[in-house]
Amino acid sequence: MKRRDFIKKAALTAGILSFNPPAIHARKRFKARMVTTWPPNFPVIGEGANLLARWIEEMSGGRLRIRVYGGGELVPPLEAFDAVSQGLVEMGHGASYYWAGKVPAAQFFAAVPFGMNAQQMNAWIYRGGGLELWEEVYRPFNLIPMPAGNTGVQMGGWFNKEIRSVSDLKGLKMRIPGLGGKVISKAGGAAILSPGGEIYTNLERGVIDATEWVGPYHDYLMGFYKIAKYYYYPGWHEPGTVLELFINRNFYQSLPKDLQEIIRTAAYRANLWMLSEFESKNNTYLKKLVDEHNVKLKRFPEDVLKTFKRYTKEVIEELVSRDPLSRKVYLSFQGFKKDVSQWARISEMAYYSLP
Ligand code: CA
Repeated sequence: MKRRDFIKKAALTAGILSFNPPAIHARKRFKARMVTTWPPNFPVIGEGANLLARWIEEMSGGRLRIRVYGGGELVPPLEAFDAVSQGLVEMGHGASYYWAGKVPAAQFFAAVPFGMNAQQMNAWIYRGGGLELWEEVYRPFNLIPMPAGNTGVQMGGWFNKEIRSVSDLKGLKMRIPGLGGKVISKAGGAAILSPGGEIYTNLERGVIDATEWVGPYHDYLMGFYKIAKYYYYPGWHEPGTVLELFINRNFYQSLPKDLQEIIRTAAYRANLWMLSEFESKNNTYLKKLVDEHNVKLKRFPEDVLKTFKRYTKEVIEELVSRDPLSRKVYLSFQGFKKDVSQWARISEMAYYSLP
């Protein structure tokens, strides 16, 4: 190849001679910081946030580079929402029920006790009007939310004593966020919201008596089996917790359309990646907990679960009676749940009960 042709070809490849506007646009590079509610490089969830950043960078050919910060590295874990809202940083990864004190309607997009599982939450959010409502709820905070992870059905939590009846919850200090926490308070316990990085120490020091976290794989990595004996199921309070990516609206709108779509696509991937990671490992780690660490696996008694269900109804009724936005979101959530549950009865429930 002649030298002149070679230069011309190289220049074309680099887009220099192209007069195609998107190609000119394509040269503009962006940087973002993503703060998270998780400890730095936290397995699965934090790892998923790191991967999300990497996928965006790779898909964009390096045009959008994101640096991920663990909770406390740039801002404290539970201040991620405000930091992104105020534009101090561009993105955040967390769970929307952490912001319930600020925006109560947010918690419906993370987990509702006795609510929907992971696939049903995805169906509601992506295809059932949930995402549009979530965007409306975050709009006053100048944030754009999207799902970016799911834990699947969680476990009920770690306790140092058996829970034989609701009275065993009286005075119990339990780390449990969101609506589930309100239910525990109604049952006479004290619900405490603390970020993942503080739970072990708090439980070890007796600041809390019990904690819920995620499920066998992640709870094993957290080491709770070293300081609590009883591991309860099912995770009535978090049947398919959605993890979120939230983006400062001004930053998002400053991005060209293709980078916006790359972010959305990567968030979908993170959503599926995290759910698959948990689902593929939970049983292996449940066996380790029971067989190698003598954890006592227990099911909550039926009457305790029935009481939790009754209190959940009351907690939600109280919330939606004083907060119109929560009412609006809940009506959509509940309507969708009713519909999808009817289908589940003759699809999945029927399938699970096959001989
Ligand atoms: Ca949890």
